[in-house]
Amino acid sequence: MIIVMKPSATQEEIKGVVNKVEQSGLHTNLSKGAEVTIVGVIGDKKKIANLEVNMLPGVEKTVRITEKYKLVSRNFHPEDTVVDVDGVKVGGKNIVVMAGPCSVENEQQLDEAAAAVRKHGAKFLRGGAFKPRTSPYDFQGLAEKGLKMMREAGDKYGLKVVTEIVDKDDIDLVSEYADLLQVGARNMQNFQLLKALGKQKKPVMLKRGLAATISEWLNAAEYILAGGNNNVILCERGIRTYETFTRNTLDLSAVVAVKELSHLPIIVDPSHGTGRWEMVQPMARAAIAAGCDGLIIEVHPHPDRALSDGDQSLTPNTFGRVMEDLRKIAGVMERTL
Ligand code: PEP
Ligand code: MN
Repeated sequence: MIIVMKPSATQEEIKGVVNKVEQSGLHTNLSKGAEVTIVGVIGDKKKIANLEVNMLPGVEKTVRITEKYKLVSRNFHPEDTVVDVDGVKVGGKNIVVMAGPCSVENEQQLDEAAAAVRKHGAKFLRGGAFKPRTSPYDFQGLAEKGLKMMREAGDKYGLKVVTEIVDKDDIDLVSEYADLLQVGARNMQNFQLLKALGKQKKPVMLKRGLAATISEWLNAAEYILAGGNNNVILCERGIRTYETFTRNTLDLSAVVAVKELSHLPIIVDPSHGTGRWEMVQPMARAAIAAGCDGLIIEVHPHPDRALSDGDQSLTPNTFGRVMEDLRKIAGVMERTL
């Protein structure tokens, strides 16, 4: 349930409502907007049903929320959330681009990729050091060595570092090197990992599961917010359908749905979403037109030699051309890039 306060409600009145709710054994979540304050109520359904707050001074109305997720819901928090990743804001007017190789392979590969993505305007360097591969015989990533290389390249080129975390026991290790912790599609419902990420401070990028509904995805994000970490960025990366021409089916309607249902920023991954480098540019354009807050794009200095996801990786030159083009689309949408 949410309690919508009158625009004229005083601090005292808001406090009175919060106290009443908490005395009933329920939790509150306060959202102070420019116009109105909303008191979100979380807890036992029966207690919520018995709560009488409509007559309290300053209360405009109460609204029942049927969705299971609360803290990620736009009803609880009508204004867009902007996630600040060590000074780079995700969720505002600017469309943030994260780019780099699928996997960190060696120093030269990463350096070339980082130089190129920086040159063409990316704000984040992406690159996996712990790779969740389908086959145990495929390249599994360089682990801590790869994380170190990511941090060094990020610092050298003034890029934030985003990298995947696959195990809750690695949180301290990955946090030492990364600015943004990525939860991959395969771990979207790894609830132990989500709970642990809720209890730490680094922002989290939560990718949509391979076959997850939007509701399951938002509930997964709720785990992180419920633990106390509000800094979550969602990432649409394609879902499994009957179609095999593309690696996944990039669900751009999810951008629109998430914007309606949630206040969290959402970025799009047209690389994993299609599996084909030549589809990255058109789908990135479409993602911006649909209203996304950012893009994550795979770039490799030599895609033909990549140890993972070469087919969907852009060369540095192509990435440069794509960025130039995307800037125009962003302008049409009254965004910057
Ligand atoms: C990745 O970003 O490298 C990755 C493995 O993505 P996903 O979890 O979306 O498959
Ligand atoms: Mn990849």
